[in-house]
Amino acid sequence: MSATRKTAEAAPNGNGAAKPDPRLNDPDTLARQIVEKLTYSIGKHPEAARKYDWLRATTLAVRDRIIDHWFESADRIAASGEKQVCYLSMEFLIGRMLRDAISNLGLTEPIREALARYGVELDMVELLEPDAALGNGGLGRLAACFMESMASTGVPGFGYGIRYVHGFFRQEIADGAQVELPETWLVHGNPWEFERRDCSYEIGFGGKVVSLQEQGHPARQVWRPAERVLAVAFDTPMVGWRGEQVNTLRLWSAQALDPILLDAFNSGDHIGALVESNKAEAITRVLYPADSHQAGQELRLRQEYFFSSASLQDVIKRHLEKNESLSNLADKVAIQLNDTHPAVSVAELMRLLVDVHGFEWSAAWEITRATFSYTNHTLLPEALEHWPIHLFERLLPRQMQIIYAINADVIREASQDKGLDDAKIAAISLVDEGNGRRVRMGQLAFVGSHAVNGVSALHTELMKETVFHHLHELYPDRIENKTNGVTPRRWLMQANPDLTALITDAIGPGFLDNIEKIRDIDALADDSGFRERFAAVKRRNKERLADVVGERMATSVDPSAIFDIQVKRIHEYKRQFLNIIEAIALYDQIRTHPEQNWAPRVKIFAGKAAPSYAQAKQIIHLANDVARMINSDPSVRGLLKVVFIPNYNVSLAEIIMPAADLSEQISTAGLEASGTGNMKFALNGALTIGTLDGANVEMLEHVGEDNIFIFGLTAEQVAERRRETHSGRSIIEGQPLLREALDAISSGVFSPDEPSRYHSLVSNLYNNDWWMICADFKAYWDTQRRLDALWDRPDEWQAKAVHNTARMGWFSSDRSIREYARDIWKAGPRNGR
Ligand SMILES: *Cc1c(COP(=O)(O)O)cnc(C)c1O
Repeated sequence: MSATRKTAEAAPNGNGAAKPDPRLNDPDTLARQIVEKLTYSIGKHPEAARKYDWLRATTLAVRDRIIDHWFESADRIAASGEKQVCYLSMEFLIGRMLRDAISNLGLTEPIREALARYGVELDMVELLEPDAALGNGGLGRLAACFMESMASTGVPGFGYGIRYVHGFFRQEIADGAQVELPETWLVHGNPWEFERRDCSYEIGFGGKVVSLQEQGHPARQVWRPAERVLAVAFDTPMVGWRGEQVNTLRLWSAQALDPILLDAFNSGDHIGALVESNKAEAITRVLYPADSHQAGQELRLRQEYFFSSASLQDVIKRHLEKNESLSNLADKVAIQLNDTHPAVSVAELMRLLVDVHGFEWSAAWEITRATFSYTNHTLLPEALEHWPIHLFERLLPRQMQIIYAINADVIREASQDKGLDDAKIAAISLVDEGNGRRVRMGQLAFVGSHAVNGVSALHTELMKETVFHHLHELYPDRIENKTNGVTPRRWLMQANPDLTALITDAIGPGFLDNIEKIRDIDALADDSGFRERFAAVKRRNKERLADVVGERMATSVDPSAIFDIQVKRIHEYKRQFLNIIEAIALYDQIRTHPEQNWAPRVKIFAGKAAPSYAQAKQIIHLANDVARMINSDPSVRGLLKVVFIPNYNVSLAEIIMPAADLSEQISTAGLEASGTGNMKFALNGALTIGTLDGANVEMLEHVGEDNIFIFGLTAEQVAERRRETHSGRSIIEGQPLLREALDAISSGVFSPDEPSRYHSLVSNLYNNDWWMICADFKAYWDTQRRLDALWDRPDEWQAKAVHNTARMGWFSSDRSIREYARDIWKAGPRNGR
């Protein structure tokens, strides 16, 4: 390897660089190289090696092959001068990487064989890898699916984020309640990342802005930060399908400029000497565990600015290595803001262009807007980010000035050019004058971008009607829809190898390269032989999940029952509570009407609550209390079980999705922006019970109304009902099933150790049925009973399951990425893909 070629992304275009020897991928070569890694990189003799050593050695052998592809990709992109996409995201919920990499490189079978020669099982080794849990839920997982799809469709993509030392907390359940434990994915080192000490930038905070007047020039503003920390890059290769393209995920780690204050140390203050470094490193120490809720603390704003500034400085440096100036930045780079977490980038790029690179304000604004685009992920008011002006000003004084100047331009345009009235201008303003003056990050991201997108068709329309109503009036062409997707490599091929094999056997391997071809199995829904094999795969996947439940929770579940599954973050709007109430009502009916033909069900829950979200934690507690009671009651006769599996994460999702018969997507309509769990389930052949919310609406269109179970109020009806009443009382009083279930919860039937535990949870419903749990209960109950009846007609159920898998190809993140590339980024994908 040429000495000049230090990093993949900075690689020269191949001239003079030695090509690596092609690596052979037969089991013999792989076995030899894995043992070589074991010996010389880990220092273990194969006989003394433990499982963990085999994981590391295998990873290193695979990594060598990835690096070859990584350099090739970088060379090719550099040579073509193609536009690059920079995906800025506070979160990347990647999960494990080894299986993904091996599978995309087509090495699964030879590596399995290579390891088997030493009596080592690949599957076992893969399970030892910790999840990279650098995200909370759907938003972070979307970023991970998008990174994989950019590489797989040939979009030159660069992910930028934060290298948290502690990712999303580990959840345990103790006496029914959630307990949060620190997550420590880096303790054994991380063989996937490369630290780039040579790629680091200074990030400032605080201080003041000085105006410099040089003769014959207009005054120039210069920020003099009071504090500086260093952002150091850690690069991880992101391998696309068939290894044809490998992109880079660059995560920033914070370090002190002076690791130790020598003056303090020498004067004997050994602790004080480390204060700076502790303070700096705190920035990237831990992921905030709140999903769909703004964190609000100063450290969070520091994190946001830290990774935004580092990423932009890096984008600029890389651009100037190949271009004379930044004036063509938007032709060469598209920057996607994943939610408002990186929205301060708009002000920061303006600062870099105007203050550092000497651009005129209006030219800088044109470049900025042409470069950025922004994805909105939620309409929940409590999730919209806004920062107190005084905090923003103290931490980022120059960026605050810039935001005021942008705001003045926007308001001038709105009032003078478009004649908007004061009320509308107040709604548009980047500064909320209402509650204590705050900077609105959504508005900043919107005005600083040339395209703003929602993540499902419904959510996009609601954006135009709600949060961005007046900005949409001002800029009517800016909002567009890009419905989310999931990568079929991880969520079908790797998570469900048996189904993948069955489909390959039935229609050939074409769907592996073009997932829309999976539609060819649609006609096989009428083929009883195929249906039986499809059902047999589902059965094996249910047995696999039953084993996991047995191992982790010492509970047995029967794989011949309906596996009815709701796994996702615990949030009131997602309505796990509605599902639990239905379980209680069902429990009651099974006992009072034993003569009826109840379909056996296992209700499975998993998900984490934000540590500070009391209601969500109560719902977890209730699910566990209800599970304990129902599961130990012999009068249920095995017809109902309730299970809460602790510590939901990507790896657990990979086991759960293929094992579901029924997928619960029951959010209050209008509140789930898209959902992606819904897509993973349906792709794996689960039927959906769901509301007309988020991407469920489009799933209905694709799978057809006979193959999905929709119930409940529409978004419009929810809004209307909220205008009319908040009380749930009259509904509860009119529905004995619901009333009795709520009475049981409220009176402590499920919490005999603390009878009042759920009193307020229930009394809230009487006073304020904000999430429409009472309003939707009957429709939900009735729909569940239709599903019971369908379970008695297994051929019909299985045919619908086949239709779901066949018709979900459109929900691939490859399709999402192609749409972003075509409509927003004007970049890639590579010809012919
Ligand atoms: C897909 C996924 C999510 C998102 O699930 P939703 O049902 O869309 O909220 C959250 N967490 C993990 C681990 C996932 O894999």
